[in-house]
Amino acid sequence: MSIDDQTLRALAFAASRARPHDANHWREPVVMEILRKLADRKLADVALALFRAADDRSADMPHVLLNGRSPHWRERDTTWTPPAKPFDRQRTCGTCGYEHAECQRRWASDHRFEPIPISSSNAIALPPDTASELHDLAKPPATTTDHDGTHPGAVSHSEGDHA
Ligand SMILES: [Zn+2]
Repeated sequence: MSIDDQTLRALAFAASRARPHDANHWREPVVMEILRKLADRKLADVALALFRAADDRSADMPHVLLNGRSPHWRERDTTWTPPAKPFDRQRTCGTCGYEHAECQRRWASDHRFEPIPISSSNAIALPPDTASELHDLAKPPATTTDHDGTHPGAVSHSEGDHA
């Protein structure tokens, strides 16, 4: 089943408006002409490639889509980095330094989750193998977290991997 003309027109209409402000304008009839040649493909694939190309300032013409090897047909890297959360001693395991859910997932049978005791918050003794894993977690010094740790209004993150 190929993509019908009405759908292609809608895509062409929207794509021509998705061009960056200072980029070459894409005229709708030209976009249509290209889209008709792609009408036997999956709508979602065409739509995604079309808008990736439309958003690409360097894609002067929609003709780039006729090249099946153009990067616009490939998924963008969608790796999502969660926003940094303020360090919260109460939710951080004193043994491994991970938050509760992550501590359970990694070390379930290894140790119990015990929040970092206040008295030792400046000197967390880590097993050597854990210390290297934690290296990239780069947390702010514990002394700065007493006030901005968590306040009740803070976004509560679901701990994720329970299921
Ligand atoms: Zn732990």
